Amino acid sequence: MASRADRATPSLLDPPTLRTAIVAEVALLRRVDRIYSYRVPPDLAGRISPGLRVRVPFGRNDKPVDAYCLSVSESEWKSTLKPILEPIDAAPLLSEKMIELGRWLATYYAAPLGRTLDLMIPAAVKRGAGVRHVRVARWIDPAIEIDALKGKQKALAAILRDATAPIPLEDACRAADCTSAVAKTLEKKGLIAIESIEAPSAGATRNPNPSEPAFELNASQRAAIDQIDAAIEAAEFSVQVLFGVTGSGKTEVYIRAIRRAIELGRQAIMLVPEIALTTQTVDRLAKRFDRVATMHSGATDAERARAWRAIASGDAHVVIGTRSAIFAPCPNLGVIIVDEEQEPSYKSQSAPRYHTRDVAVKLGHLLGIPIVLGSATPSLETWLNTHRRRHYRLIRLPERVRGLAMPKVHLVDMNEEHRFRPGVHMMSREMESRLKETLDRREQAVLLLNRRGYASYVHCPKCRNVLRCRHCDVNLVYHASSDRMQCHYCRERLRVPASCSTIGCDGKPVKFGLGTERVEEELARKFPEVKARRIDSDNMTKSDDYTEILGAFERREFDVLIGTQMVAKGLDFPFVSFVGVISADTALAFDDFRAEERTFQLVLQVAGRSGRGDAPGQVVVQTFAAETAPIQHAVAGQYEAFANGELKLRMDAGLPPYTRMMRLVVADKKIAQARRAAETITREAAALFTKHRVQAKVTPAQEAPIQRLRGMHRFDTTMIFPTAAALMDSVRILKDEGVLRPRAERIVVDVDPISLQ
Ligand code: ADP
Ligand code: ZN
Repeated sequence: MASRADRATPSLLDPPTLRTAIVAEVALLRRVDRIYSYRVPPDLAGRISPGLRVRVPFGRNDKPVDAYCLSVSESEWKSTLKPILEPIDAAPLLSEKMIELGRWLATYYAAPLGRTLDLMIPAAVKRGAGVRHVRVARWIDPAIEIDALKGKQKALAAILRDATAPIPLEDACRAADCTSAVAKTLEKKGLIAIESIEAPSAGATRNPNPSEPAFELNASQRAAIDQIDAAIEAAEFSVQVLFGVTGSGKTEVYIRAIRRAIELGRQAIMLVPEIALTTQTVDRLAKRFDRVATMHSGATDAERARAWRAIASGDAHVVIGTRSAIFAPCPNLGVIIVDEEQEPSYKSQSAPRYHTRDVAVKLGHLLGIPIVLGSATPSLETWLNTHRRRHYRLIRLPERVRGLAMPKVHLVDMNEEHRFRPGVHMMSREMESRLKETLDRREQAVLLLNRRGYASYVHCPKCRNVLRCRHCDVNLVYHASSDRMQCHYCRERLRVPASCSTIGCDGKPVKFGLGTERVEEELARKFPEVKARRIDSDNMTKSDDYTEILGAFERREFDVLIGTQMVAKGLDFPFVSFVGVISADTALAFDDFRAEERTFQLVLQVAGRSGRGDAPGQVVVQTFAAETAPIQHAVAGQYEAFANGELKLRMDAGLPPYTRMMRLVVADKKIAQARRAAETITREAAALFTKHRVQAKVTPAQEAPIQRLRGMHRFDTTMIFPTAAALMDSVRILKDEGVLRPRAERIVVDVDPISLQ
C-alpha cells in the first residue's frame, strides 16, 4: 500500500504542493563534515527518530554507512533522495539535548559531527554488551476456551491465559511442571506466542541504608550549601565556583548538593579528574547514596553498559565518573559537579579535544541547571570568569574543617643544599630529618616527584650524546624495575647499550637525572626499616591496583607513599602528617605559558594532603627556583595573590584567559610534506581572517616543541583570538573554505589547548 508521498515517479495529476516525503537528516560516521538528507521509506515510518543510528547508502556505489539520525520531518519530495536502509538500534541512544550538545562540540572543537556523537556513547552500549535476552510466552486470545486441552498442556495454558503480562517461559513451565516442548505444542496450535525480549538489566548499585557522618557542617559549608541548594531549586543556569582550601570539606558540600537534587526527583553527575582519585571519592560517595552508577575507564564492558542503562532508565540517581561521564544519558539532570576543575586530565587528547569542564558549563546552559566547579586552586580561566561573567558566583571555604591548621611549608633551596652536601641526594637534610620525626611518631608520609622512571636521561659521559627515541624527538627514560630505557610517548622499550653508538666513541652510557624509582631506592637506603610503596602509571594499570594500594595506605599497612602527581590531589588520609616535594621544578621546565600555573597548583595541592587528621601537617618543598612567584605563593598558601599576579602577566602578554587560543599540529612521515602543509594552512588562514575581518594573531608555522612523535614530523601554529566568538567564526571559516582538508597524514585542531608540546 504505497501512499502518495512514496511514489517514486511523480504523476502529472498530483498538484506539486502535495509532493512531500518523510526526510531524516543524518550525520555519517565518516570524516565528512556535512549533514545529509535521506528519505524514510514507508515500512520504516515511525521507527526512525532523532538519536537513533541508521544505515544509509552512501557514495557512488551506495555503500552502506552507519549514521546518526539528527531530525525527522516532512519535507518537499526530491527524487534524488536515497532511502534509509535500516535502523541499527531499537531505541534512540541520544536525547535531543545531547544531540544539541554534540552539535556544539563538533562546531566548537572542529570535529566531524557523526564521530562526535558516536563518542558520546560507550562502545559497550552500542555493541549491546551485558544485555541478556529471555524468552517470554503470552496467551494470544482470551476468548479461546482451554477445556479441550488436557494434562500439562492445560496446566500451562491456564497459567498463561490468567497472566496479565507475558511471563518468562522458564517460569511458566516450572509452575506448570512441564517441559518447553509442551509450550512449543501450544505455540503450534496458535494458542500462545513465544518471543525473545531484553531481560531487565540490573540497575544502579543499591545501598538502601546510606551512612551519615557524625559531624555537623561548619558555618562556611552551611552558607555554601544554602547558596547551591537555592540554585538547584531555581533550576536555572548558573556556575557556582566553590573555592575552598585543601581540607575545607568540599566533598561534603557536593554530597549535600547531590542530595538536594535527588530530593527534588532529579539526577546528579559528579565528575572527578583521574582514576586514582576516583577510587577514594567513589567509595565515599557510594557509602552516602543509594542508586549510584559509576562510569570510568577501569570498568568492564558489561559494567559500563549496565551503568549506562541504569542512568538512562532513571534508576541511577547519582553518576560518578571521569571525562566521558559528562555524556551520561540522564533523563532528568538537576546538577553537575566538577571536582578539581583545574585538572588537565579533563581535556580530551583525541578529537574532539573537548574540555570536560567547559562541556559541563555548556550542558548546564542547554538544560538550565546549575554547575558546581570545585577547587582549592581554580584554573585562571574560571577565576577570571568569577570576576567578569554574570552567571558565575564565587563561594569561599576559607578554613579547614574542625579548625585544623593549614600545613606548615618549609622551602629548601637545592642550590644551597648542593653546596653544603656533595654527592647525589634526592632528599635534603631538612627533608630527611622531618621525615624521620614523622615516622618516629608512627605517622605517614607522601613523597612526590613528578617524573616517572629511575633516570630521566641515559648519556655517554665521553661524547655527551644523550640517548633518544628513534621515532620521537625525546630522551629515553631508564626504568630500573624493567631494566630498560623507555620512550614515554611511543612506549618503545630498549636495553641500555653496552657502549656508545657515536662513531669512534667507546664511552659507556650512564644513567642521569631523577625519577620516582630513584626516590624509592634512596628511601630504602636511608630508612631501611620503613615500608614504602610507589604509585605511578608504570605500575598501576587497572583501577584495582589503585584501590589496593590506597586501601593498604589507609589501613596503615605501609608508611610512605611515593608517586607522581597522581598522589598530589584529592586524597584524604588522616594519618599523613608529612609531605615531601622532591622537586617543585619539573613543571617549570616545560616551555608552556601555563608552566607557572601548573607548578603553583601542584605544590599547593600536594601540600594540602598533609595534616588532615589530628597531627599538624608539615611540608618540605625542594626547589632550584626558590625566588619565583609560583613557588613563593604556593609555600605561603596564597592563591589569590598568585592568581592576580599571573593574570596580570597573561593580560600584558595577550594570552588566555584574556584571549582564546587554537593550535594546529600538522604531522607527516615526510618532513617536507609536513612543513609545506603547515605553511600553506597558516598562509591561507591568515589571508581568510583578513578577508572576513576576523581579528586574529597567527604565528608562523614552525617545528613543534616535540619535533618528531611516533615517526611523524610535526609542525605547528598557534592562533590567538580576542573572543570566543572570533574563535568560533574562524573555526567555521577554516572548515568551510577547506583549509583543514587532509593535506598531510595528520592535522590536529586543538581549541583551547592545555599543552603546547
Ligand atoms: P577537601 O575536598 O576540601 O580537601 P574533604 O571534603 O576531603 O576536603 O574533607 C576533609 C575531611 O573532613 C573529610 O574526611 C571529611 O569527612 C571531613 N569533614 C568534612 N566536613 C566536616 C565538618 N563540618 N566537620 C568535621 N569534619 C568534616
Ligand atoms: Zn618514541
